[in-house]
Amino acid sequence: MKTTLPYNLHSHTKRCGHAYGEDFEYCDAAIKAGFRELGFSDHVMLPGVSQPGIRAEYTELGNYLGSVAGLKEAYQDRLLIRAGFEAEWLGEEFADYYRYLLSREDVDYLILGQHAFITNKKLVFFSSLDEEEGPRRYAESLVEGMRSGLFTLVAHPDYFTPWVDHWDERCAQYAHLIAKTAKEMNLPLEINGSYSRSKPDVLTDPTSLLTPCPMFWDIVAQYDVDVVIGVDAHSPSHYEVTDYDALVAFANAHRLKLLPESPLSLKK
Ligand SMILES: [Zn+2]
Ligand SMILES: [Zn+2]
Repeated sequence: MKTTLPYNLHSHTKRCGHAYGEDFEYCDAAIKAGFRELGFSDHVMLPGVSQPGIRAEYTELGNYLGSVAGLKEAYQDRLLIRAGFEAEWLGEEFADYYRYLLSREDVDYLILGQHAFITNKKLVFFSSLDEEEGPRRYAESLVEGMRSGLFTLVAHPDYFTPWVDHWDERCAQYAHLIAKTAKEMNLPLEINGSYSRSKPDVLTDPTSLLTPCPMFWDIVAQYDVDVVIGVDAHSPSHYEVTDYDALVAFANAHRLKLLPESPLSLKK
C-alpha cells in the first residue's frame, strides 16, 4: 500500500469486539504504510447501552482514551495521533453525551458512522429493516447528524446501498440530499476502504451496490464536496492490505475533490 494522502482518521481497536490487534500495532502499521496522522475512532461507547461484538461497554471509555493518550505521547515524533469515536446520530437523547465527549481534553473529534438509529429508546440496525424503510431512515438520520454540527467527517455516506437491490430514482434523491447537506455544512464525505479489501472489483464495477457505490459518488461530484479516504482499519494488517492507490484512483475517476490534509489539521 503506497500512501498518497498522509492521514487516516478511521481506525478501530479490539475493544469493539470485532477488531483485532494491540493499539500500538495500529500505530506501527500506519507508519509503515506511510501515514503521518492516525485517528483512532472506535465505535462509540454509550452509557446504558450494551452491544457486545458491536461496541465496547461504557466502562471501557477511560481505558480506551487513556491508551490513545499514552500512544500520542509515545509516538509524538513519528505519528500525529488523534483520539475520536465513530458515532451514530441517535437524536438529542445522546447529543449531550457527544457534547460531553467533545468537551474532554483527551477527545479530538467524532466521525458520523451511521449503522443504526434509535426508536422508542432502542437501537435498531438498518439491516433489520426492509428495502424501503432502511435506506430512508439511513438518509434521514445521516442528514440530521450532519446538521448537528458535532461531527468532523461522515464515514461511508453511501452505506444504504448494500440494502437495495437496484439503484433507482429514490437512491439518487438520497445521494443528492446527503451531498447537498455535506456541502452546506462543509463536512467531508469518506470513501470507505472496507469492502474493497475483500472485493477489489467494487472499485471498478460501474454498477456496484457495495461501498463505495459509483452512482452515489457521481452525484457527490456535482456538489464540489470535500472527500477523504478512510481505511476503516479493524486490524493492524488492514493498513497493509487496503489498496489505497485503488481508492485514490476511484476518487479521481469520479472527479472527486480529495482533501490533501486531514480535516483536523485544516481546522487549526
Ligand atoms: Zn466496526
Ligand atoms: Zn468504522
